[in-house]
Amino acid sequence: MPEGIQSTVARYDAIIIGAGFSGLYQLHCLRDKLGLNVKLLEAGGGIGGTWYWNRYPGARCDSESHSYAYFFSKELLEEWEWSERYPGHAEIRRYLNHVADRFDLKRDMQFDARVTAAHYSDTKQDWTVETEAGERFQATYLIAAVGCLSSANVPNIPGRDDFAGDWYHTGRWPHEGVDFSGKRVGQIGTGSTGIQAVPVIAETAGHLTVFQRTANYSIPARNGPLSGEFKKYMRSEHDQIREVVQTTPNGHPFRISDTPALDVDPARRHALYEHAWETGGLRFRAIFQDLITNKEANDTASDFLKNKIREVVKDPETARVLSDIDHPFAAKRPPIDTHYFEAYNRDNVSLVDLRATPIERITANGIQTSDREYPLDIIVFATGFDAMTGTMLKIDITGRDGRTLKDAWHAGPRTYLGLQIPGFPNLFTLTGPGSPSVLCNMPVAIEQHVNWVTDCIRHMREHDHATIETTEDRADDWIAEVNRAADATLLPQANHSWYLGANVPGKPRIFMPYAGGMDRYRTICDEVVENGYDGFVLTKTGAEAAAD
Ligand code: NAP
Repeated sequence: MPEGIQSTVARYDAIIIGAGFSGLYQLHCLRDKLGLNVKLLEAGGGIGGTWYWNRYPGARCDSESHSYAYFFSKELLEEWEWSERYPGHAEIRRYLNHVADRFDLKRDMQFDARVTAAHYSDTKQDWTVETEAGERFQATYLIAAVGCLSSANVPNIPGRDDFAGDWYHTGRWPHEGVDFSGKRVGQIGTGSTGIQAVPVIAETAGHLTVFQRTANYSIPARNGPLSGEFKKYMRSEHDQIREVVQTTPNGHPFRISDTPALDVDPARRHALYEHAWETGGLRFRAIFQDLITNKEANDTASDFLKNKIREVVKDPETARVLSDIDHPFAAKRPPIDTHYFEAYNRDNVSLVDLRATPIERITANGIQTSDREYPLDIIVFATGFDAMTGTMLKIDITGRDGRTLKDAWHAGPRTYLGLQIPGFPNLFTLTGPGSPSVLCNMPVAIEQHVNWVTDCIRHMREHDHATIETTEDRADDWIAEVNRAADATLLPQANHSWYLGANVPGKPRIFMPYAGGMDRYRTICDEVVENGYDGFVLTKTGAEAAAD
């Protein structure tokens, strides 16, 4: 243990890991609604979760501002004003800091406190949590509010450490920014992140070379300042906005059409796609009811979007490589952009097709593909995350009988409802694998989970329960339901998708988020409670595990 660190163990009712959207709200609920003694530990130096780390050029949320917010407080909704259609990373941090100040949350948070271990004691029926600095904390309840996209995936390309220039992962962006002026920049990755970064980096870089492995769809975001009229609407109609986001399958502030794409004649369909393209953003996905369930329907959207790329990008070979997309539209998380495809019309931007000429290694000088070496000053890894499970598995977590989480999840994440893991009593995973999470507008999914966990802990305390734990059988059933829901869509058809864990070498291939819709999921969670926490075993204080 480093010098100066106390060896005593601080005791709390609950420990929360993570100061993003979910951790903040969970702290407010447990402390201010239930009166618990709570400590929040955060690895970063401040509030924000994913937005604390993702400060790369162009970093902005794809959810529209008026829906990317907490809905639990009327006052908060009335006093906060977003400035643009989609909130940028700095504005989201300002918002979350405002929330933390407003509810006086910071006094129970500890920053620069990376949790490295969490061990459950069968005898004491509590958790001991340890930080990198060696501090230890004990608590009855442990809440992992670690986010779905927080463990950066930097691919282990041979020679990476030989590179003589600077390299950065977008999810660990330096707070002081990066000066690209006149530099030869190489960017690997064309997911949502890479697509946001390209046009902004291109504005100042000497030359930007984009290394694309899988071509991707993207829809213009049509971002811009919000009008006074819209701001008024946001403030006065939040009840109606809340009603929409909390009853749609994806938590966004618009409803999905109930018209199948093929029920509409081709000319009318094309006009609707054109209108949605001009409107911009994720609303495109909602114009027909069956775009993510019916391949033939999806083809109409995919073809439209591929044609748009060919219209926008002037160089025919670049347009061909960008539009040579191997998966159905929205089978991977669909990016939205600001002048992404237009950036390829600049003289200082070029594209390398890694399918034709794969990266062989990184050299001191740049990136070597099977074709040639590209000399570079800076490499940007926009290569995504070890999503949904990576952060949890980096923590040494042991549950009942000393069983490790690594062992419990060796074949992929096992949870019931993405809320609890069998063998890990009193550990709650907010927007964990098996919940809608990333398939939903995140704050909406988060509020539902935090409310569920808060009600559960209230119930436990009112009924003198010491522990709650789900069962192996229930986790098996839920995994089957998660697979069934995914298989009813086109989502598993994207080969390298992080939804499947397929973007990280060696990671088990299992569809992780629940694709059955946030609305349906909410009902299932409510029914679990109505049926006396069906699927969970609750034990009385001091008693052996016995169903209530
Ligand atoms: P991502 O979707 O996983 O994309 C990573 C990119 O890096 C892909 O193009 C991938 O190619 C490429 N890549 C990875 N390893 C590679 C390698 N070894 N060689 C060459 N290319 C490699 O990650 P992301 O773009 O960071 O986005 C992750 C998620 O974060 C999004 O889907 C979204 O949910 C969220 N996000 C949200 C926003 C927003 O709201 N605005 C913005 C950014 C991100 P392959 O496809 O071939 O694997």
